[in-house]
Amino acid sequence: MGRFLFHGRKLISRAFSTLNGNPLHVCVVGSGPAGFYTAEKMLKAHEGAEVDIIDRLPTPFGLVRSGVAPDHPETKIVVNQFSRVAAHDRCAFFGNVSFGTNVSLSDLRKTYDVVVLAYGAESDRSLSVPGEELKGIHSAREFVWWYNGHPDYCEMAPDLKSTDTAVVLGQGNVALDVARILLRPTTELETTDIADYALQSLRESNIRKVYLVGRRGPVQAACTAKELREILGTRNLRVHIQEADLATSPADEEELKNNRIQRRVYELFSKAANTIQEYDDNDQRNLHCVFFRKPDKFLPSELGYSVSGVRLEKTHLKENGVSRKQVAVGTGDFEDLKCGLVLKSIGYKSVPVDGLPFDKRKGIVPNERGRVLSSDETENATREQGLYVAGWLKRGPTGIIATNLYCAEETVSTILEDVRNGLLTSVSGSHKAGRQGLLQILQDKNVQFVPFSGWERIDAKERMLGELKNKPREKITTWNELLSVAEG
Ligand SMILES: Cc1cc2nc3c(=O)[nH]c(=O)nc-3n(C[C@H](O)[C@H](O)[C@H](O)COP(=O)(O)OP(=O)(O)OC[C@H]3O[C@@H](n4cnc5c(N)ncnc54)[C@H](O)[C@@H]3O)c2cc1C
Repeated sequence: MGRFLFHGRKLISRAFSTLNGNPLHVCVVGSGPAGFYTAEKMLKAHEGAEVDIIDRLPTPFGLVRSGVAPDHPETKIVVNQFSRVAAHDRCAFFGNVSFGTNVSLSDLRKTYDVVVLAYGAESDRSLSVPGEELKGIHSAREFVWWYNGHPDYCEMAPDLKSTDTAVVLGQGNVALDVARILLRPTTELETTDIADYALQSLRESNIRKVYLVGRRGPVQAACTAKELREILGTRNLRVHIQEADLATSPADEEELKNNRIQRRVYELFSKAANTIQEYDDNDQRNLHCVFFRKPDKFLPSELGYSVSGVRLEKTHLKENGVSRKQVAVGTGDFEDLKCGLVLKSIGYKSVPVDGLPFDKRKGIVPNERGRVLSSDETENATREQGLYVAGWLKRGPTGIIATNLYCAEETVSTILEDVRNGLLTSVSGSHKAGRQGLLQILQDKNVQFVPFSGWERIDAKERMLGELKNKPREKITTWNELLSVAEG
């Protein structure tokens, strides 16, 4: 067995070529940043690794395609790097293969020496306040998938016409993305890869006011300065911030002293509150940054089935004894905000699959440096042989694309440690079938997978359609069309 060195940020394997003369069969579930970084690091670090990446969609790249905002093209350049990984002669992509439906955890564990789960967080946290099921209330995830042309949400059709007011609950970067897409002049979105139907709907939108509501104050807003600067600088946008909300307590001052990002964000809010903006009265849009308010209930319209407003409870900050963080506490004082659209941007949540240990409280798979543990109770937990986790499923839904690189590096270094310690060799000495085994399972279950060449056909067609409209691509947004273009 070869010697493995962890050298700075580089994983180096020496004479680390095969597992007892056979390839090391690796399956990565999920082709987002965590999946691709894991595949890349694994291929580099182990000469004998053969890596298969499966994804439930016919298209790769996870949230880089379906999350990152259309007006942030520079962020998506990373897909070039991921495409080079997919083209590696020891790597293969299997799109349109759903883990948990088409292939089970036990199928994969029987077939591969190493299974790395990197299937992200495809569900939403709920607020659990009355009225959450009313029409016109969506999660930010659904809205983002809609404007980014995710095939599961291409028919969502949020109603942007019957109201002039939207409330976005949350003040993180995703909240800022959705608010900006609602407020930005559509002429500036025309040359992005936004889905065509979403552009059309935004052109016809009557929304002119967006309330961005946070439980805590401007010192605690969870966004980054770059994203905040961008929305505050949106053309023809008037920003409203209550002067009183900018007052800071000694605890706030302490937080600002210790955190540069929070300080920059607070300064930007303060500057915006004190700037007189120039705008064109004809198509002026308004952003109201509302602090110290938490949703108490959603108010139904007269007919009772769609949302007509949000009841907010005013809050104040109190130091939490354990974490020493300032948390929002309700004051018992309420106010109603009228609106016809609500987007909840309060966090994503991972979905468990059959047979997989899952920590329901944290919404992640219990793990130790990427190695899956049988339970979240550390004292009783045992290691699940050959099973690993990376990305949002491992850490929870936080962090930028690059965070997943470090996360994948950690998981790969754990895998190599287990290879070196002989923990991946089966007791009976039998060898796993790897890619051949997966192909057999898919054939037996009649699953038509999309290889990377199928994605390349989709990519070429989207770029060609985009060129006609001066867009980088015109996304294909339905399952049927994606699959038929992939087939060629
Ligand atoms: C709206 C939004 C905007 C963002 N914008 C930025 C930004 O501008 N810059 C930045 O750096 N970061 C941004 N991020 C963060 C970044 O996208 C994440 O850090 C990153 O995508 C997480 O990677 P992941 O691989 O864990 O999950 P994902 O990217 O979600 O990838 C998971 C993959 O698993 C697949 N999958 C899911 N379920 C199954 C299943 N059952 N079987 C098979 N496959 C499955 C999915 O189709 C997907 O391809 C944004 C996030 C969001 C939500």
